[in-house]
Amino acid sequence: MAEQEASTPRLIDRAAQPEDLLESIRPRTLDEYIGQETIKDNLRIFIDAARSRHEPLEHSIFYGPPGLGKTTLANVIANEMGVAIKVTSGPAIERPGDLASILTNLQEGDIFFIDEIHRLNRAVEEVLYAAMEDFELDIMIGKGPSARSLRLTLPRFTLIGATTRIGLLSAPLRDRFGILNKLEFYTEAELSRIIQRSARILAVDIDFDSALAIARRSRATPRIANRLVRRIRDWAQVKHNGRITPEVVDECLLALTIDQLGLDKVDKKILTTIIDKFNGGPVGLDTLAAMISEDPLTLEDVYEPYLMQLGFIDRTPRGRICTTAAYQHFGKTPPSSLDVPGTLFQRD
Ligand code: ADP
Repeated sequence: MAEQEASTPRLIDRAAQPEDLLESIRPRTLDEYIGQETIKDNLRIFIDAARSRHEPLEHSIFYGPPGLGKTTLANVIANEMGVAIKVTSGPAIERPGDLASILTNLQEGDIFFIDEIHRLNRAVEEVLYAAMEDFELDIMIGKGPSARSLRLTLPRFTLIGATTRIGLLSAPLRDRFGILNKLEFYTEAELSRIIQRSARILAVDIDFDSALAIARRSRATPRIANRLVRRIRDWAQVKHNGRITPEVVDECLLALTIDQLGLDKVDKKILTTIIDKFNGGPVGLDTLAAMISEDPLTLEDVYEPYLMQLGFIDRTPRGRICTTAAYQHFGKTPPSSLDVPGTLFQRD
């Protein structure tokens, strides 16, 4: 059973799964990209200004939990700028030589996108500084006494970095980005629009109420919303002749053990562990992770942001605590010592 769970990706997992990349529902333009209005307004200005000066866009960074649209935005920018985009990730660039071969193959104005940029290693990062600042690359050729340094001039490119962990970015790297953008969780209204757009592209008929019912369970995250649309499409096809109603949505998500707020088994385990085993907390991240058999980084990056957004968990210097809102969600009475009411999350 444990083995099966390990090999079956979680439905609400925010990390990209292969099926997410299969169908082309990624928005291509700023107008198609729903929500994140402040970021879009700013980008429109920066893109217009850069284009009219015939210059590349400033180096930019997008940060926030997985699945909120960072990679999509990088692609949208490339499309709006009319340039090519080269996509890679921090851990994939192992040596300065790997970086050099990518950078020397870019064309003037191209976008170089590094996902998980906080995971770049030190040696690569240091070479990147001069590339970002002066569009120059210093590389060492050969080894030992015959080694010599070679300086290459690069085309002027735009580096776009994405990270779930802005705090782990070194200060020198962070300072070299002209534009820093924090992606926000999506409202139910925005998610409903994303769901209806995806449904149109997938040729699935979803009415407004059903879209809203899915939006409520999507953890404020477009990637999860799109994944739920596909699951519900399959469910409706097999069980209801393809008809999707709010009742069909409820039935399907109940079968997938996703509750009214989009919480699944792991979320519930996190909350009930803090409540039942630690009397509401505080409990340290590592201890909590060990109790629920999850990796501490996954717990911190993937699960906690939404539970905090809901007002169910607080991070304190002494550890994680559950709020009274979390107790109420499970119909439990909070201990009198708990004076953290939590704010029930309002999404519109
Ligand atoms: P991230 O890079 O932040 O992990 P992605 O950019 O890969 O997230 O987005 C995940 C999926 O969600 C994409 O495939 C895209 O279809 C969808 N998506 C993300 N943001 C939006 C948006 N603002 N409007 C419509 N769809 C979106």
